[in-house]
Amino acid sequence: MVDAFRNMLDELMGKERDVPLDKRQNKPLEFDDPAVCKYELLALCPNRLFRNTKSDLGSCGFTIHDDHLEWPNIKEQWDKLPQREKDRFGYERDLIRYMEQLIRDMDAKIRKNKERAEAESRPKVLKVDDQRRLDEIKMRQAEMLARAGQLGEEGDVDGAIKAIK
Ligand SMILES: [Zn+2]
Repeated sequence: MVDAFRNMLDELMGKERDVPLDKRQNKPLEFDDPAVCKYELLALCPNRLFRNTKSDLGSCGFTIHDDHLEWPNIKEQWDKLPQREKDRFGYERDLIRYMEQLIRDMDAKIRKNKERAEAESRPKVLKVDDQRRLDEIKMRQAEMLARAGQLGEEGDVDGAIKAIK
């Protein structure tokens, strides 16, 4: 009976109802919390985007993503910040760097696969259509990366992120 009452109080007032306000752990989440995925906050979390694909990047180092209850609040906090304030956190620069790293890794993988295919002397590894598509994708990727770099230099961070996406 006492337990049931305690549980009810926990539910109504939280487990920390007897802890002084400034000592409580369940403060509202802030966007700069170390557990919040900053990539997801800006645009998208690459680690989640490629999950269960051949390019699976493993799990994200951050644990809080858009399926968290308080996500809408912290997303709004972030979106409302003036650009100058956002720049101070450097999240956008970090995302662009991370994306560039991913593209470099992908290029290296493509190069390695190509070299291996050539070494195995199988000239027709890819069908003509597939090769054409791959060439197109690579060309487009290089274009967009160049564009992202250019926009980044011009200070158009939103544009750069869009280009990378
Ligand atoms: Zn993440």
